Amino acid sequence: MLENLSERLQGIFSGLRGKGRLTEDDINDAMREIRMALLEADVNFKVVKTFVARTKERCLDAEVLDSLTPAQNVIKIVLDELTELLGRTDSKLVLGSRIPNVIMLVGLQGSGKTTAAAKLAYRLKQENHNPLLVACDVYRPAAADQLQTLGGEIGVRVYRGDGQDPVRIAQEGIQDAIDNLRDVVIVDTAGRLHVDDEMMEEAEAIKRAVKPDQILMVVDAMTGQDVVNVASAFAERVDFDGVIMSKMDGDARGGGALSIKQVTGKPIKFISSGEKPDSLEEFHPDRMAKRILGMGDVVSLIESAVKVQQEEVEQEQAERMMRANLTLNDFIDMNRQIRKMGGVSKLIAALPGGDKALGSGQVDEGALDHMEVIINSMTKAEREKPDLLNGSRRARIAAGAGVSVSDVNQLIKKFNETKKMMKKFMPSAEELAGGKKGK
Ligand code: GDP
Repeated sequence: MLENLSERLQGIFSGLRGKGRLTEDDINDAMREIRMALLEADVNFKVVKTFVARTKERCLDAEVLDSLTPAQNVIKIVLDELTELLGRTDSKLVLGSRIPNVIMLVGLQGSGKTTAAAKLAYRLKQENHNPLLVACDVYRPAAADQLQTLGGEIGVRVYRGDGQDPVRIAQEGIQDAIDNLRDVVIVDTAGRLHVDDEMMEEAEAIKRAVKPDQILMVVDAMTGQDVVNVASAFAERVDFDGVIMSKMDGDARGGGALSIKQVTGKPIKFISSGEKPDSLEEFHPDRMAKRILGMGDVVSLIESAVKVQQEEVEQEQAERMMRANLTLNDFIDMNRQIRKMGGVSKLIAALPGGDKALGSGQVDEGALDHMEVIINSMTKAEREKPDLLNGSRRARIAAGAGVSVSDVNQLIKKFNETKKMMKKFMPSAEELAGGKKGK
């Protein structure tokens, strides 16, 4: 996500950090480099111009905090301005009181509308809503099929009608939601490859007919400079409340994400970074700015960690861990929690400097699955007491799990090491009972 820009900016900052004092020339040079980096990331040139002018003025104004070094002050100002550029405040999807609430998605063909519709439905379902998806793209027959398939995967009803009139399908969809007690309707409209009158008229007609509570425009992060023209055209004709920025996982330069708020005045509400239903995240400008500047998305990480903990860590497991009575079943539990949090790579990437760390070597996510297969091939008793595993059992398990004996040995070695480490830090059962603290 915006890796190139992120790398460039971090490079500029590490150059500044090397200097004790910053002269006006140093700041001018840094601003010139920032300007280049933003333009190369496809950020709209007017946006770049304003951004650099404001940032430079603040840096030269010697608006300095004593607690920070000169370089840190510059970084702080850039962070502030970047957050401002991205929209400053969080803009959540607020549902109105009307039932069913109607969310309409607009955007060009291929922008990721249909995928985003399904992801949004999935998200609403997680939040205990009961959404309905309505397929109004009558020009691309595959679009309705695609929505139907996605709806099936996430267990959300899809209304597709059988006519050729998108306005009527949208209206019928609302009725279908009422009949089937759905509280949110997501209307997926048809896009075209380019902005044209016909598409705008159709979107306007659907808007008039269903009076959506929210209109979200789906924008492909890979669109580059043109994103600004497309979004402005939609803002002028259909108007919309916010943006879903799709394909943030691509290796696009991503300047659109940085330009859209400034140019259209419309906030980014969600970013989509993958094809899976759960890859739609709420957009937080401050966190994104920090991520771009390599400060790590620690807040998101902590939030997801807390969520997993609330959902997953049962009392019994916590107690077991406290006494360091670790079993291989705990390994499986931990593995599942890591996966819930998005996998090891995502965890590392969220840490400060994590993106860089990942850049230098790949994390083998598959190794975790391997581990689970090996443990699953063991008996209940063996999982609780891996010491029971002799050579022939290890060989049997390796064969059963389709791995080598050394994989099994390694897992057991890791397990014993973890157990030892936990014993060091956790009070033992006896100590707990006696009320003493562990070493
Ligand atoms: P629509 O024409 O606007 O409805 O676009 P689709 O939803 O059909 O998406 C177009 C293509 O982009 C499909 O192949 C999607 O799988 C893909 N796509 C959509 N969103 C994302 C995303 O966030 N990341 C990636 N990598 N692909 C996406």
